[in-house]
Amino acid sequence: MRLVDTYSLILAFIVVQLAALGALGADLMKDPERRDLSFLSGRVLQIIGWTMIFYRDVLPDGLSVLVGNCAMFAGICLDSASLVAISGGAPRYFRRIYLSAWLLFSGAVALEPLGLISREAMFLVGTLVHGALMVASGWFFVSCPRSSPLRRVLTGFYLSMGLVLGFRAVWLTSISRYALSDPALPQVLSILGAFAISTVSAISYGLLKKEMALRQVRIMADQDPLTHLYNRRAFTRIGEDLFRRARQEGTPLWAMMIDIDHFKSINDTFGHSAGDEIIADLAFIMAKVLPCHLTCRYGGEEFGALLTGLSDPQALETAEMIRAEAERASVMGISYTVSVGLAKLEGQKTMYALLDDADAALYRAKGLGRNRVEVFHQDMIPRERDLEAVSADQGIGG
Ligand code: GH3
Ligand code: MG
Ligand code: MG
Repeated sequence: MRLVDTYSLILAFIVVQLAALGALGADLMKDPERRDLSFLSGRVLQIIGWTMIFYRDVLPDGLSVLVGNCAMFAGICLDSASLVAISGGAPRYFRRIYLSAWLLFSGAVALEPLGLISREAMFLVGTLVHGALMVASGWFFVSCPRSSPLRRVLTGFYLSMGLVLGFRAVWLTSISRYALSDPALPQVLSILGAFAISTVSAISYGLLKKEMALRQVRIMADQDPLTHLYNRRAFTRIGEDLFRRARQEGTPLWAMMIDIDHFKSINDTFGHSAGDEIIADLAFIMAKVLPCHLTCRYGGEEFGALLTGLSDPQALETAEMIRAEAERASVMGISYTVSVGLAKLEGQKTMYALLDDADAALYRAKGLGRNRVEVFHQDMIPRERDLEAVSADQGIGG
């Protein structure tokens, strides 16, 4: 029974891939990156390869089988490797896997005209290498740390293609003579599979690029560019979650506010860029001392942190460690100190009230001479309330 005419299938494949290449090229060439060019070259190579295979009866055998197959498989390797690269998270050696697969495939294709292996053996090795590469690609998509529905769909497609090619390999061992026009099921399925993968990967590449750009925008929206710590907006958003969980689980939670002492005079004496270096240095100390806690640049030369699961002595020791590290540091020969305020979550406080308490403790540390750590207790009036009291005393604000 003739399932389908394989030549018509290949012709349809070439036409669809040309259309996909046109659409993708028009989109990617607006702002091309190196990996876009390698992805587009992969698609061009696949079209050239399949066209040479399509004209098998017209072109000399060497050109159609040897160059056609090698170009087509180089295109498949470039196509899949670019998709894996853009997905992120693949092992560093993944490019070597694609290169080795191409060398193995091309080696088998080149040995056939020399009479070193039979044509059937060449197609068998080619099919097995292709199948193994599809399984490896499927694995790379699913094993990347930022898995998404799109990556899972790609994994499904690539693993299915691996299975189809395995099926084709078994079929190849059972026939006496290979012919491209053979309408047997494994042959048709593998051409259809290549068709599907190529079309899905063309769509996925664009979608993965958009996914990556969106993630980049989110990181930029959450991160302070000078220190690479969270900014205040991200800190309060993530902090709310931490706060809720600590409340539910009854874990100790501390708010910490840190402020560089006499920073204005550091700026005035050594310049703004030296000031920036000091801010970055303090951020580095915070990230080093508090790797498992939520830290942020609250604004200017002020930093905030939420510490979970620390006992009273541990919280105090951590704050003291930051103060001492800053005191020991020297940035471009400039030394600096910081004041630290700590407040522990007790009762039914909101996160903002807790941060206010830490700020009140910081204010007290400043008042007591700076370069010190103070822990909040009830007799410390938060700055705003303090100011309100002063305003009221002076009759300001009606
Ligand atoms: P105190 O010990 O009481 O905290 O005094 P201070 O001088 O550190 O505090 P003040 O609030 O008077 O000054 C903070 C200075 O921080 C003023 C501002 O110009 C500077 N500043 C804020 N953001 C940046 C920044 O991104 N880079 C630099 N270099 N300076 C900054
Ligand atoms: Mg300051
Ligand atoms: Mg300040």
